Amino acid sequence: MSRRRFLKNLGLASAGVTLTPFNTIAENISSSALGGKFPLVLSTWNHGMEANAGAWSILSTGGSALDAVQKGVAVTESDLTNRSVGLGGRPDRDGHVTLDACIMDHDSKCGAVAFLEDFEHPIDIARAVMDRTPHVMLVGRGAAQWALQQGFDKVNFQVPLREVQQDYEEWLKKSEYKSGVNVENHDTIGMLAMDANGKIAGACTTSGMAYKVHGRVGDSPIIGSGLFIDGDVGGATATGVGEAVIRVSGASAVVEAMRRGAAPEEACYEVTHRILKKHPEVNGLQVGFLALNTKGEYGGYSVYDGFNFAVRHEGQNGMVDAKHFRTWK
Ligand code: ASP
Repeated sequence: MSRRRFLKNLGLASAGVTLTPFNTIAENISSSALGGKFPLVLSTWNHGMEANAGAWSILSTGGSALDAVQKGVAVTESDLTNRSVGLGGRPDRDGHVTLDACIMDHDSKCGAVAFLEDFEHPIDIARAVMDRTPHVMLVGRGAAQWALQQGFDKVNFQVPLREVQQDYEEWLKKSEYKSGVNVENHDTIGMLAMDANGKIAGACTTSGMAYKVHGRVGDSPIIGSGLFIDGDVGGATATGVGEAVIRVSGASAVVEAMRRGAAPEEACYEVTHRILKKHPEVNGLQVGFLALNTKGEYGGYSVYDGFNFAVRHEGQNGMVDAKHFRTWK
């Protein structure tokens, strides 16, 4: 489908018009995509800068996008100051830090782990699931057992960290053990990369929603929700309230919009819009998407302002603010 047709189906007369759905002002979407140079890596939020540096050490020396995204998000997993990725993350409501991650490459090979405790690098275990098993996803105790058999070690430091433990105890007092969506308490690193050969891969890893119900798994390790790659089209990754992303198969929906002719930002806009339509009354529901197409063009869009992403390619190493529908009040 041509871009014009795609935009018409979205109800837009042309690219760049301002919409006013749901009593809110959407920022103009753009059909003229950013980027177009590769190798390239992009990832969610400020901590994406360090993660991108990790990925860049592989991309800039001719390595594969797949190795780059694995190494890149592992940087964030090791950062114990990060409260929403890796073992520095906030626990569930029973005090356990449980981790979710997945990885996918240009020819649809993928691996994932969910509800995993005590390992520093869930992304490495997800990659091993992809490379060494006929399966896509392992969860919980079985995933841990398999990882140990494969030579991955459990960490030997105390988790949750003391500061995290104190916050958790405070939360327990205030919340009366009720899990809820709190915008301060969730985050993910989602990364998309294109290597010098033009191949795309992606990775996604998180400790999920803070104080979630024990056993809860979000969108991040679910192929098609938190991450999706199609080597013929491009890739997408999500950040934000996982339940809302899963309900629309978010990352896969973004890639399908690009397949129909949307530029990356338009595709992210379309799916963010769809989520907003399904949750018109929900305040504080933050969801954002990042997308990359096979030309190395990229874009993002989010429900609320404040979602930014880190981009690195030749001549650029910095942050970009995603456009958004709503403004935090
Ligand atoms: N998507 C993650 C989850 O729902 C959290 C986030 O990205 O904010 O587990």
